[in-house]
Amino acid sequence: MSEKKEFTILTTDDEKSNLDILAGILSPYYNILVSKSGARTLELAREKKPDLILLDVMMPEMTGFEVIAALKASNATANIPVIFITGLSSTEDEQRGFFLGAVDYITKPFNNAIVKARVNTHMKIVDQMRTIERIGLIDPLTKIANRRGFEDRFEAEWGRAIREKEPISFLIMDIDLFKIYNDTYGHQQGDVALKLFAETAIDSLLRASDFAARWGGEEFVVLLPFTNIDGATEIAERIRLNIEAMEIPIDEESITKVTVSIGANSIVPDIDSSMKDFIEKADLALYKAKELGRNRIVSALDL
Ligand code: GH3
Ligand code: MG
Ligand code: MG
Repeated sequence: MSEKKEFTILTTDDEKSNLDILAGILSPYYNILVSKSGARTLELAREKKPDLILLDVMMPEMTGFEVIAALKASNATANIPVIFITGLSSTEDEQRGFFLGAVDYITKPFNNAIVKARVNTHMKIVDQMRTIERIGLIDPLTKIANRRGFEDRFEAEWGRAIREKEPISFLIMDIDLFKIYNDTYGHQQGDVALKLFAETAIDSLLRASDFAARWGGEEFVVLLPFTNIDGATEIAERIRLNIEAMEIPIDEESITKVTVSIGANSIVPDIDSSMKDFIEKADLALYKAKELGRNRIVSALDL
């Protein structure tokens, strides 16, 4: 991939000698953009959409920490990975960098081979992510599987449940009164809530085989292989509580909240069972949860 120089890296350092060294290491493989200040980096990031940003921390006027905060605050630049390259080497500084959203941290004086290896690793990740997005199985907003991605997985797990005569469960979750949320705080803030919702839902899952996806709009689903209805409602309740506790920031001071309604279904499928039926019943249970007042779980087996 590197031979064709298909990726662009924006390097930022207030000292020209450092920029020269980085260019020396990386320019055989990547297109290099250089910036000597935070302000210029923000400008170039917006205009040129680099694939990776290497960012010095200690710079006059605007520090690297301030630059990354500004990058992350803007939709146009939030997803560009940032690696700090810095003379600061305390664990605290490193932690702060990661907390602000950096993907890696390299300390100066740098070792050429290490810089090259780490940059290559991150470019590979970027490349893979793009491939996954391109083939259309990932939801670009939340970065979790989309409906198509779910369907692939569902088919495989359904077949396995039939063969092994094991239960499989399904949760369908719909954010409550989300239209009002959007109308009150704006669509962009709605997107922030959706991203955080996806993260929180995934963090609520324990097994590697559990699988979450965005079904569409403000609806999400979870597939729970080898899980009966008791296990499924337990997980649904954990998600419901975690969503209820979730604080969605709108600015430095204020937070917002949402709740979620969940329909659950579970089955030990056989060759005659209908996947479509199974999902439709979960959807009916979700509808019932809304009808009963939202922020609750209804099992299709209780309908
Ligand atoms: P209910 O509790 O009955 O589910 O009410 P609701 O308002 O959530 O339901 P409704 O289906 O009427 O509205 C869903 C809203 O979700 C409509 C739309 O504003 C919002 N929405 C759907 N997709 C997106 C999205 O990608 N981004 C944002 N910000 N909002 C979305
Ligand atoms: Mg809906
Ligand atoms: Mg809704």
